[in-house]
Amino acid sequence: MNVLADQRELPPVRLHIPRSVWANMLDHARRVLPEECCGLLAGHGSQCSRLYELENADHSPVRYSAEPRSLIAAFRDMRERGLELLAIYHSHPTSAAVPSRTDLAENYYGTVPRIIISLAVNPPEVRGYVLHPDRWQEIELVVVADPPARGSIIDY
Ligand SMILES: [Zn+2]
Repeated sequence: MNVLADQRELPPVRLHIPRSVWANMLDHARRVLPEECCGLLAGHGSQCSRLYELENADHSPVRYSAEPRSLIAAFRDMRERGLELLAIYHSHPTSAAVPSRTDLAENYYGTVPRIIISLAVNPPEVRGYVLHPDRWQEIELVVVADPPARGSIIDY
């Protein structure tokens, strides 16, 4: 595989996540304990603007799979709003915020960034990655101020 091709395929290495989206993600992770949570972040470029909670169809503390109806509804809403899928998040209720062997083996979304929330520590640790079959690349997660309330900006 040549190096240039690899570089062109690299996704943004930094994601900007509004404070409220970040808080909702942590809240979701805590609310479904002891199970893993899962969901999507959508937006434009590196700027996340919307969170979609998905149901963990496995209802398990050690693995997750997105319940298909909630997944389809999320993608439909993204399309209607003109948003791109920017990240997939899930929690690790009792282990570190690093990809598990299962996360690497069952990576169905290629280089879409992953966010892992570890509730094994307090406060929770949140880290981002791009996954490859046998390794991962850490990405930067930047918490930013919420955008002004709707109505005060023209956003389309
Ligand atoms: Zn995991």
